[in-house]
Formats: sequence, structure tokens, C-alpha cells
Amino acid sequence: MNRRQTVPPQQKYTVKDFEREFPTEDACLETVMHWRFPEGKTLCVTCGVERKHYRVSGRTSYACRACGNHIYPLAGTIFHKSSTSLRTWFYVMRLMASTRIGVSAKQIQRETGVTYKTAWRMMKQVRMLMSEDIKLSGPVEMDEAYFGGSDSNKHSHLRGRAKTPALGIVERKGRVVARVIPDASKASILPVVGEVLQPRTMIYSDESATLAQVRWMGKSHKLATVNHSKSYVDGYAHTNTIDGFWSLVKRGIGGVYYQVGPEYLQSYLDEYSFRYNRRKVMRPMFSQLAERTTMQVCPSARESKLAQLGL
Ligand SMILES: [Zn+2]
Repeated sequence: MNRRQTVPPQQKYTVKDFEREFPTEDACLETVMHWRFPEGKTLCVTCGVERKHYRVSGRTSYACRACGNHIYPLAGTIFHKSSTSLRTWFYVMRLMASTRIGVSAKQIQRETGVTYKTAWRMMKQVRMLMSEDIKLSGPVEMDEAYFGGSDSNKHSHLRGRAKTPALGIVERKGRVVARVIPDASKASILPVVGEVLQPRTMIYSDESATLAQVRWMGKSHKLATVNHSKSYVDGYAHTNTIDGFWSLVKRGIGGVYYQVGPEYLQSYLDEYSFRYNRRKVMRPMFSQLAERTTMQVCPSARESKLAQLGL
């Protein structure tokens, strides 16, 4: 597998950066605390006052100085109730954010010492952080891709399954949305198009019969089809951008995918889309990913209670 990196310097986050910023388990916990509750300040339910909470030594909690009530910054995050150290979690996020082509669970097992099963589960959780709902603006390119490959590469229990289709829509020089669809019918494609694109968006696609049906979706999308058999690229009429995205994904997950089955394909697409959509943001991709651990929390029991009380 080609692991050549083409990450711009501003996006780089090296092992040295990591060692400096997160030397210990406590440093990771402090960071999560501050992402979640800036300056460590949050409402103490018992006192009914917003105040700074202090680290309780030997525990993953912080306490209100006045009444001693504890809060748990990891509650509701992907780290909650995990027996794996926070530092290992952060390390896995760094690896997954710093690759272009993707990392394997095997590599994570080798570099962190967790079991293969744990590595696989952690990656699945991190991919959840990478999932997002975005809308695109035109002109866009659209094309389907099929995953599953030939039977000879598959585990016996996966043989004979049909390939899994996915729909990709990409802004030129912009962001991408990639979705697993049940089949490549009009009924499966149109809802995705309707959700992701504004009416009257210009869409470039190849001559697939299915995509041509988008003409009739009633939102006045303009569809231009591109004839690949012509030996020239006709100005704007090309699908190079989406072809490039799909080839990146296929190079990365081709080998891994046979082992995990179609039900996980969407999370792999989320991972590749996340990195693709941030390739021009000049901040470390790791920071952009790690911060999402507290943006996407499931409310903890305490927070649900607060919401219930209207606090
Ligand atoms: Zn208190």
C-alpha cells in the first residue's frame, strides 16, 4: 500500500508534537475537561452556581470546591467507560487524522499494543466522530462507485453477495458527500441529491442511465453528461474530481473492506470524506478531529437531568 504523505506543513502534527502536548494521561484528561467546560467552569447542580471545578486525584472526575460534588468530563464521549487509556485513544486519533490513504487496525495494534479487536473497535468509534451532514453548492460532479470486489478475494461468508453501491457528490475544489445507497435506482439516488444539493445545481456526471434520471427529479437540477469515450476533456464537462475521490477511497479500503462487510462501508466513507473535506484547512487535522470528541457527546445522565430541569 502506498503510504506517501502529502500533508501540508500547517496540517502536520508529528509524534513530537503529540509527546509535547500530551505527555501523560492527566494532560489528556485536562484537555478534554477544557474542551468541554472552558476554564474548567461549569454549573454545580448542588450549589446552583457556575464555578470552577478542581481535579480529584486518582479519578477521572473534577469536584466543586464548595460542596464536593463531582463531574465527569469523559461522560458521554467515546472515551467513557473504556478500559483503554486516554493517551492511546488520542494516539489512535492522531494516526487516523494524519494519514491520507488510511490506517489499518493491524497498524494500530502494532503501534499501541492494544489487541486487534480493541483497535478495530476504537477505529469504529473514531469514525463516528468523522460523520457529518453537509450541503454542497454547485457546480458538482456526481458518480456511483461499487464496493465488494471479486469473490476470489473474499472470505467465504461474503462470497456471492452483490457489490455495494455508493453515491459520491463533490464540489469542484471543494467538499464531498459519499453515501452508501441500497441500490443504484432513481428511488435511492434522488433523496440523497435532494438533501445535499440546492435546486438548480449544475451536476456533471458520466453517461450512466441511472444518473440521467436526475433530470426528472423536479428540482430543476441541470445535468450534463460526460462521454468518457471521447479522447478529450471538454472544458467543464469532466468528472475528474469525483473519479479522484473514489480512487483514493478504493486504494485505501480495498483490502480492508472484504473483511468487514457492507454494513460498515458508510463509516469508512465518512472517514475518507472527513479528511478530504479538511485537506485545505490549515490547522492540524488531528486537532480538528480531537475537538469533536466533546462536540458530539451523548448527554451524560447529569446533563439529561439538567435539561429536564430546564437548566
Ligand atoms: Zn457545588
